[in-house]
Amino acid sequence: MAEYGILVDYEWCSGCHSCEVACQMEHGFEPDHFGIKIAELGPWQIAGKKWQHANIPLFSEQCDLCAARTTQGKLPTCVHHCQAACLSYGTLDALAAQLKEKPQQALVALR
Ligand code: SF4
Ligand code: SF4
Repeated sequence: MAEYGILVDYEWCSGCHSCEVACQMEHGFEPDHFGIKIAELGPWQIAGKKWQHANIPLFSEQCDLCAARTTQGKLPTCVHHCQAACLSYGTLDALAAQLKEKPQQALVALR
């Protein structure tokens, strides 16, 4: 049973890819292997001046939730390097409470 995860506030994800690179460097992954990967939804026009455009981080099975860092009390490296501060690490219970506070968020159970 998973106890920890990452809450993504994708309303504020800029699609900068810093999290992808930080994860690859931390784990020594091949260039085409990812722990976290950004998916782009849109852009397309919905109606009037309104547009659909979102960057949404997805987590692969190679994500170990940065166990080597978190056991030392450090944040996962993707969370640490996200300048938009749109990734939060914690227990699923704490993150679920945060999830209820606003839309356009996704909670991922990882470990
Ligand atoms: S928590 Fe660690 S292993 Fe998982 S995606 Fe983020 S940087 Fe990669
Ligand atoms: S570092 Fe943050 S803002 Fe940049 S792509 Fe990753 S989640 Fe989005």
